[in-house]
Amino acid sequence: MIPMVDLKVQYEALRDEILEQITEVLESSRYILGPKVEELEKEIAAYHGVREAVGVASGTDALNLSLKALGIGEGDEVITTPFTFFATVEAIIYQGARPVFVDIDPETLNIDPGKIEERITERTKAILPVHMFGMPADMERITEIASRYNLFVVEDCAQSFGAHIRGRKTGSFGDAGCFSFYPSKNLGAYGDGGLVTTDDAKIAGRMRVLRNHGSEKGYIHHSIGLNSRLDEIQAAVLLVKFKRIDHYLTLRREKARFYTERLCSTVQCPAERNGFHHVYHQYTIRSPLRDRIKSYLYEQGISSVIYYPVPLHLQDALKGAGYCRGDFPVAERASREVLSLPIYPEMERADQERVCEAVRKAVA
Ligand SMILES: *Cc1c(COP(=O)(O)O)cnc(C)c1O
Repeated sequence: MIPMVDLKVQYEALRDEILEQITEVLESSRYILGPKVEELEKEIAAYHGVREAVGVASGTDALNLSLKALGIGEGDEVITTPFTFFATVEAIIYQGARPVFVDIDPETLNIDPGKIEERITERTKAILPVHMFGMPADMERITEIASRYNLFVVEDCAQSFGAHIRGRKTGSFGDAGCFSFYPSKNLGAYGDGGLVTTDDAKIAGRMRVLRNHGSEKGYIHHSIGLNSRLDEIQAAVLLVKFKRIDHYLTLRREKARFYTERLCSTVQCPAERNGFHHVYHQYTIRSPLRDRIKSYLYEQGISSVIYYPVPLHLQDALKGAGYCRGDFPVAERASREVLSLPIYPEMERADQERVCEAVRKAVA
């Protein structure tokens, strides 16, 4: 079976260095908030050209803590996309705020900036764009709208580590950039992990307190926080992989180009936009024959996944939000047509060729 992603090949290539780094942590007896987390935070902040980065327990908590640090809560509205992973919206609801959906752009599958303004009310506090599959959302237009209406911008960068718009990285446009180190993400740990980038030292300071039970000094608590810290072992693993991240992203883009060259006359391939540097966390095609392609690939021993089969406004868990079928036709249609194909930096040419041939045969 050709898997969506093979984490084992990367581990094998890095094994000695990773085990050495983990051993160093184990020998040091510093397991929580130690020098590895600090080093990783510094390096990732520098990589993004921002002042601060704060390691947290997961991408979901990066979103939770960012919204909380910005004071978003009960009665507030946050504008976001219905075509994303559930965690994006979970974080909004967890703060007691209301997600307000805006339909997506049919090419990029990211929030459509042209439809944001009509959904802004006096309760709107923030815009939360997601850089879907590694393609940057249109941050220039989004931050322009946000500054005109005095709104915060929180970027969901869980799928876009390393993506940029004309050199400016995702996660450096908004008030906060939220990253996930879930093992299969572009920069993946060996467990859960996340991080927030911000250029605002005050927001970073609040986040450091919130991730540690609202405590600045031992057992003195000025606010209600969370236990949400990135641990030293994960940071050690991430430091090893971070050194190579640009190389991994180059390889992902090479695999993507290979697919696009061979498949673009058969199915709709991911959009590339001038100046937008897509990092292909997923390689996602679209076709009205999606279900047929998926089952044919399966028969041929090839994995593929539908990210995401049900847009968020139609999820049972969000029934109370008052949305119905037809509200966001572009997102609904995308959910019926998208299919993500196997892609990872070490993927073999021959496997990619097999995938292409199977897609072409399925359509024929
Ligand atoms: C993975 C992901 C998250 C959540 O990250 P975790 O680290 O799994 O909590 C949030 N948003 C998007 C778009 C994701 O892909």
